[in-house]
Amino acid sequence: MSEHSSNNAQKDEQKNDFIRNIIRDDVKAQKYPQIVTRFPPEPNGYLHLGHVKSICLNFGVAEEFGGVCNLRFDDTNPTAEKQDFIDNIENDVRWLGFEWAGDAHHASGYFDQLYAWAVQLIEQGDAYVDLQSPEQIKENRGSFNEAGTASPHRDASVEENLTLFNDMKAGKFAEGKAVLRAKIDMASPNMNLRDPVIYRVMHQAHHQTGDKWCIYPMYDFAHPLSDALEGITHSLCTLEFEDHRPFYDWAIEKIGFDVPPHQYEFSRLNVDHTLTSKRKLKQLVDENIVSGWDDPRMPTIAGMRRRGYTPEGLRDFCERVGVTKVDSVVDFRLLEFSIRQSLETTTARGMAVLKPLKVTITNFAEAVSSWESQKADSVNARFDDTTQTLWLTQPNHPNVDMGEREIPFTETLYIDQGDYEIEPPAGYKRLSPEKPEIRLRNTYVLAVTEHITDENGTVVELKATIDPATLGNNPEGRKVKGVIHWVSASQGVPATVRMYEQLFSVEDPSSVADVHQALNPNSLTELNAVVEPSLVNADAGTRFQFEREGYFISDSEDHSTDTPVFNQIVSLRDSYKPA
Ligand code: ATP
Ligand code: MG
Repeated sequence: MSEHSSNNAQKDEQKNDFIRNIIRDDVKAQKYPQIVTRFPPEPNGYLHLGHVKSICLNFGVAEEFGGVCNLRFDDTNPTAEKQDFIDNIENDVRWLGFEWAGDAHHASGYFDQLYAWAVQLIEQGDAYVDLQSPEQIKENRGSFNEAGTASPHRDASVEENLTLFNDMKAGKFAEGKAVLRAKIDMASPNMNLRDPVIYRVMHQAHHQTGDKWCIYPMYDFAHPLSDALEGITHSLCTLEFEDHRPFYDWAIEKIGFDVPPHQYEFSRLNVDHTLTSKRKLKQLVDENIVSGWDDPRMPTIAGMRRRGYTPEGLRDFCERVGVTKVDSVVDFRLLEFSIRQSLETTTARGMAVLKPLKVTITNFAEAVSSWESQKADSVNARFDDTTQTLWLTQPNHPNVDMGEREIPFTETLYIDQGDYEIEPPAGYKRLSPEKPEIRLRNTYVLAVTEHITDENGTVVELKATIDPATLGNNPEGRKVKGVIHWVSASQGVPATVRMYEQLFSVEDPSSVADVHQALNPNSLTELNAVVEPSLVNADAGTRFQFEREGYFISDSEDHSTDTPVFNQIVSLRDSYKPA
């Protein structure tokens, strides 16, 4: 079996995760007319890699089982939320390649209904207004080993509670002076069932409902009822909500629904050297540690998009990670593997010299004067007399049809500083005084005749000759090992190339209290590179493979033909192989 097909077989196997198995059984039993899932972000930041897993799961299973997936903003905390976050979340989900059913929903769109249900709970004797201070409420919840203490307001009459709740809604209470609590069990071993708060006073305008409300439902109350309202069948969330499920079920049961939604929990995505917490990512943005939510080093969808990661690569990564109930940390190299694989057959090639070393070809005029008679049939080229440039036509991809381009070859070139060593390490296969010959990609074999050093002994220029008989032909009577890339000094274009390392130097940045201590000082390096002309004419946001260097994208914000800027997406290869 080829590597590709075995990978696919593996992926299909992973789709037998426990959630898909549950849904498969439900479909078989015809439990629901249609499978309905939802992706429910709170619009208090940008989406990150962890959310990608949740998006792929929720939209993925809906697609696979002929159902639909809603996008719902769980916007119950107006202080932290804003429209900009909503817009970016929608954009990010679409960019990943998913489309939600109908319009996006908002928990705030259900505030009237949620209020009516809160009143219903009061009328049923299942909720009461508590006038204790937040500190008292906290203290009286008890602890893991100790039952809670009932509030003195717990047994107030339905009428009293209705009046007080109405007063809350009318703005008669300051924040913290009154809350509505579910009346469940102050001795429950599950702290979430010790009369959880379901409504609180917040004198705060809301980005969707304006000044209409000064009381807002708590997430734990809004979430199950929003699910029920939308006819969600499988409410998929991360493991930390497992302890909240009894309250989820309590709320659904007390309000009463014909087809109750069911919550299932799966493990969060954790990736080494990566933060997946909106709150902590926001700190990086607010403190200008990064250039914004879309800094290419950020694990946000916006950052990964600007970095050049592909939606296909991210989805492939999520499939490989799979869905389980076991917490684990995924190797970052698996993500890079998926991204790299998605780029192999989709990006045009080009030559860029990241750390330029000047090479002067001392026999250029003489050698190219005979180029036409000496070239191999496979070489397609033309010589421009005024600029003394040999233009070589080359395909943009070795085996996928992506058109072709002309590459200028001139008397003065740049090669990479790393491709010439005065004292090469063992096994070095590029240029050195002992091995002066090498093939220049797409053109002649070059032989270094002299290196010029500065006062520190650093090589600053090479003098070299080309063998006129090697334009597309093997050299006579000898084998020349190795191929290097190069760019014309006169026709190449200066470009800024941003090289990236992990943003964090520690494996688990979330374990470090002060995020500054976890940062990698080398996460960004800007190089003054020189690139072949075809690369700078590309639109912003175009991905390339720079030969021998890796995959790069013209930056969506800063790149223009006049000031080219490229971001490194991922290196060319890695010894890493997914299990
Ligand atoms: P954060 O702590 O970053 O704010 P969150 O869970 O509070 O994350 P939400 O906007 O509430 O963020 O999450 C929307 C959905 O994405 C939820 O269903 C949540 O379970 C899921 N999700 C968030 N982080 C991850 C993660 N690391 N792995 C998988 N799913 C996640
Ligand atoms: Mg949350």
